[in-house]
Amino acid sequence: MTDSILRVDDICKSFGALKASDGISLDLKPGEIHALIGPNGAGKSTLIKQIAGGLKPDSGKVYFDGRDVSQHSTARRARAGLGRTFQISALAMDFTVLENVVLGAVGQSGSVFRFFRDAMKDTRLLERAYKALDRVELRDLAHVRTSELSHGRRRQLEVAVALTLSPKAFLMDEPMAGMGAEGSQALTGFLEALKTEAPILLVEHDMDAVFALADRISVLVYGKIIATGTVDEIRTNPEVKLAYLGE
Ligand code: ADP
Ligand code: MG
Repeated sequence: MTDSILRVDDICKSFGALKASDGISLDLKPGEIHALIGPNGAGKSTLIKQIAGGLKPDSGKVYFDGRDVSQHSTARRARAGLGRTFQISALAMDFTVLENVVLGAVGQSGSVFRFFRDAMKDTRLLERAYKALDRVELRDLAHVRTSELSHGRRRQLEVAVALTLSPKAFLMDEPMAGMGAEGSQALTGFLEALKTEAPILLVEHDMDAVFALADRISVLVYGKIIATGTVDEIRTNPEVKLAYLGE
């Protein structure tokens, strides 16, 4: 056995003739941020979707928290503690901040609530939602409409949604996309704190953020991981420079 909370073993996925995942293996260890970088179209989001359960691999396995979850639904993986945020925001803009957290908690877990208004009256769920909002410092904005939040705050809200299920690990697909320098700096600090509690598999384009945050980096190019290593190892890897960093 390994000490990894999450392990991906030889995942393959083709779209027609395109091999989006071409035998990908990687793992996530307690306490770490493992960044997944690579050019546009390399297959980063496709891999995240397969780990989360929304997209079925052609072959290969996903192990989470000591179990083979390859056949488990997205909701079941979420309930087991696999948290995620999305490349494209999944927030409901006309809803309040609090409503989004409750809606997200219900939606992620495939919950028993048939009606949203019943979920909004459930004290245990509300307590969890407020706790998650505290963690990302959004409690004061609980009753503000989500459309009125800044981009950075919306990203924090997405993390709060994921936090409601007390994740044991996080998948994050470009959480800093579209953020200003101030926002991404704030999020960087937050992720640094978050990783001690739940390690993060982080897809990110912002190389300053990746180099500041990552304990390990894997470089994905055309569906294949060409290198995994520390920040220094990746920065100085000639193959990585050629394929991606372009120095
Ligand atoms: P990245 O997130 O690294 O930018 P993606 O995982 O989104 O890359 O995409 C990898 C490749 O797979 C791209 O060439 C993309 O066009 C293709 N692709 C992704 N999803 C689908 C799909 N559902 N159907 C067909 N092609 C897809
Ligand atoms: Mg992507």
